[in-house]
Amino acid sequence: MFCRAITATLTAGLASLAVSAAGTAQPPESLSDSVMRHVRIDAPRLALTGLQLIDGSGAPARQDQTILIEDGRILAVGDRGGVTIPDGFDVVALDGRTAMPGIVGLHNHLHHPGVPVSHFAAPHLYLAGGVTTLFSAGSAAPMAELNMAGAVARGLGPGPDMRIAAPYVTGPEGNWVMPRPATPQAARDFVDYWASAGVAGFKLYRHVTPPIAAAIIDQAHTHGLTVTGHLCSLTFSEAAEMGIDRIEHGLISMSDLVEDKPAGECVSTLSSLTEADIDGPAVSAVIDTLVAHDVTLTSTLAIIESHFAHRPQGEPRALEMLSPVERAAYDARQTALAERRDTTRFTPALFDSILAFERRFAEAGGRLVAGPDNGRHIVAGYGDQRNLELLVEAGFSVPETVQIMTHNGAVELGLGEDRGLVQAGYRADLLILNGDLTADPAAIRTLEYVIRDGLAYDPASLAETVRGEVGLR
Ligand SMILES: [Zn+2]
Repeated sequence: MFCRAITATLTAGLASLAVSAAGTAQPPESLSDSVMRHVRIDAPRLALTGLQLIDGSGAPARQDQTILIEDGRILAVGDRGGVTIPDGFDVVALDGRTAMPGIVGLHNHLHHPGVPVSHFAAPHLYLAGGVTTLFSAGSAAPMAELNMAGAVARGLGPGPDMRIAAPYVTGPEGNWVMPRPATPQAARDFVDYWASAGVAGFKLYRHVTPPIAAAIIDQAHTHGLTVTGHLCSLTFSEAAEMGIDRIEHGLISMSDLVEDKPAGECVSTLSSLTEADIDGPAVSAVIDTLVAHDVTLTSTLAIIESHFAHRPQGEPRALEMLSPVERAAYDARQTALAERRDTTRFTPALFDSILAFERRFAEAGGRLVAGPDNGRHIVAGYGDQRNLELLVEAGFSVPETVQIMTHNGAVELGLGEDRGLVQAGYRADLLILNGDLTADPAAIRTLEYVIRDGLAYDPASLAETVRGEVGLR
C-alpha cells in the first residue's frame, strides 16, 4: 500500500534511486562494514519501551509509550499497557528518553562552499545529527551527488536517504559556477536532461530571469518534479504566480518590499526589510499570495543566525568538525563580525522579524519545512538541530516544530505516507533523545540513537569519524 502511494508521486526520472524510492528497508546483510561499525542495535524485531513520544503529527507528547519495530517498519505504537510485546522481540528500556521521527531536511546541501561535493563528511554528519531523509537543494556537482546517494542506498556508506537537486539555475549576472540557460527552450532542455539523470527537483537562484524561471517551472511540472528558489530577481509574489512550488530562506530573500524594484533584476533587499512591519498590509499580502498558491516556505534559520553579531555563533562541537582551513576562516569571520557589531543592517529587530515572518506564514495556513543551508560554521546535522531550537524560539510549540522538521518535509517530498510520523506502517526512522524535548529544545543535542530503517546508529561514532573533515571531503 505504501509502495503504491509513493510510486504514484515519483517519476520515472527517479529510477536511479529506485532502491530508496521504493520504500523498502535495507536488510543489514546488504550494508558494508563502514555502515555496520556505527550500528549499535540491529535486531530485526525491536520493542522500545518507556518513551515520551512526539510523533510528528503536531499532537502533544504522549508518555510511557511502547514502539514495536519489525524489519525496518513500525509495527505498533501505544501506551505500555495497550501494546503487547510479541515473542521474539528484543526489548530496550528507554525510560526518561524522548522519541521523535527522523528529520526530513529540505535545504540540506551535500557541498560546502569551495568544496563541490562533501561525499564523506556530509552523509556521516547528517545521520549523526538525526537527518534520515534529505533534499540537497541545489547541486554544485550533481553527478557526484547522484552517485553518492546511490552508493548510500546500496549500503556502501552510512547516510540518510538523499534526494538530489539539479544544478542551480541563475541568470547572466549570476554566480559563475551555475548554469545560465540562454533561452526558454534551452531551459526546457536542461530540465529534461536532469530529470532523466534522476534529480528530485530544481532550484532557481537569485539572478534568474523571469522567462527562464517560467520555462524551468513549467517543464519541471511536466516531469512531476518541483521547483524551489533562492529568489531576488523575482519577488515572492511573482514566483508564486508563476507556479513555483517552494521558496527558500523566508523574509531575508524577499524583494517584494523594495520600492520601485526594476522588474526581473536582483537588487539589495536589506534596507526594505529592516523597516518592514511584519504585521502590516504589505507583508500580509505576500503571505496571503504564497498561501493561496500553495507555496511552501523553507526555514533556514541556522545559517541566517550566523549573519547576526548579537546571536550565538559557532558551537564547539560543530567547530571541531571543521578542517583547519575552515576553522581559520571562522575565526576571521568572527573578528570581522565583532568589528561591525554596530551595523544598521543585521539588527536584532530584523532577526526578530525573520522569526515572526515564519510564524505568521504558518498561522496563515502555509506549509513550513526546514533545512540548515549548511555552510560557514553551520555543519550538516547539527545545523538541523539548531533550526529546531530556533523554530521554538520563533514561537512554535515543540510538537509543531517537530512536525515542521519531519512530516512536513516528508509531505513536501511526496513521501508523507511513508515517513515523518511515528505511526504503525511507517518507516522506522526515528530519533531517541536522552532528555525531555518538551521541557528544553536543547535536548535535541542529546541524541542517543538515530534509527534509520530500523537500525539504531550511534551518533557519536558517526561524528567522530569525520572530525576535522568538513571542508576537506
Ligand atoms: Zn543553500
